[in-house]
Amino acid sequence: VKTIGVLTSGGDAPGMNATVRSVVRTGLHMGMRVLGIRHGYNGLISGDMVEMNLRSVSDIIHRGGTILYTARCPEFREQAGLEKAKKTCQAAGLDGIVVIGGDGSFRGARDLSLLGIPCVGLPGTIDNDIASSDYTIGFDTAMNTAMQMVDRLRDTTQSHDRCSVVEVMGRHAGYIALNTGIACGATSILVPEVPFDFKRDIYDRMMNTRKTGKQHFIIVVAEGVVAENNPSIDELAKRIQTETGIETRATVLGHVQRGGSPTVEDRVNASLMGNYAVELLNRGIGNRVVVMRDNKIVDIDIYEALQMKKTIDMHTYEVAHQISI
Ligand code: ATP
Repeated sequence: VKTIGVLTSGGDAPGMNATVRSVVRTGLHMGMRVLGIRHGYNGLISGDMVEMNLRSVSDIIHRGGTILYTARCPEFREQAGLEKAKKTCQAAGLDGIVVIGGDGSFRGARDLSLLGIPCVGLPGTIDNDIASSDYTIGFDTAMNTAMQMVDRLRDTTQSHDRCSVVEVMGRHAGYIALNTGIACGATSILVPEVPFDFKRDIYDRMMNTRKTGKQHFIIVVAEGVVAENNPSIDELAKRIQTETGIETRATVLGHVQRGGSPTVEDRVNASLMGNYAVELLNRGIGNRVVVMRDNKIVDIDIYEALQMKKTIDMHTYEVAHQISI
């Protein structure tokens, strides 16, 4: 009987639980033993594992977070940490591991595969910043959460004829900002992939729009833009208020975007991708990531996946700015 492990690593994302459920149930369906590894790669080093059965994953498909807990594990970046993990895997009789996380977690999976423990990576992160995949588990839920929050802000922004500057998650990627921005009719969308100019991208857009009668404004800003460009979001709001004379408030959505019940899209993809990963391990195939490309679930070499680059869809970006005026 084959034994496989499953772990969640890096930042949590809604849909990780649905993925764990799929991995566990598929493995059991195939007659495997399945171990749940807790706290990401930490559990692999310390041996914090628990045997999963059909009921271990009951009542979690609709829950955000991860029942296996997640963590960053600096020790796993070192050879000594990897060797320790390899020993734990051998002691537990693990024939393969499914790693749910982002690019960093995939690097770990690649390193462990090189040591002879077949690993398959699944893209789990709200930011959609995994270059090899068009989609990541949790992205759809996070966008929908951000959209609902901005819709609420819009109600009060409109009532007071104000401007709202909203910071959404995305340290290196503007996907949440772009999609939330177009879905909420933001006057400006600032993403890390496109350099911005205060006058052109904020001031002029607001003033030109105001001439046509618009009285309230939403500016959606990805976290990475704020981090790189200091001023902070509060300073940006102050500057907008000072230069336009329009009362402006800053809101940071923060970690609410990481939680909540996953959407249909995230649950379905989590279920299919989890199943796909176990199929690979069942055939003895490791060192792969399961990704979405052109609406199909496929697998590619981890090393190749980590070389890939991705950028936002400029067409969507341009359309958003054309029609949100
Ligand atoms: P998120 O998108 O949420 O940041 P991530 O998987 O990219 O997810 P990281 O913090 O980059 O998050 O990585 C998670 C863990 O993966 C790290 O704590 C570490 O244990 C492991 N890891 C990251 N990079 C490497 C590497 N180069 N070699 C080995 N392990 C790594």
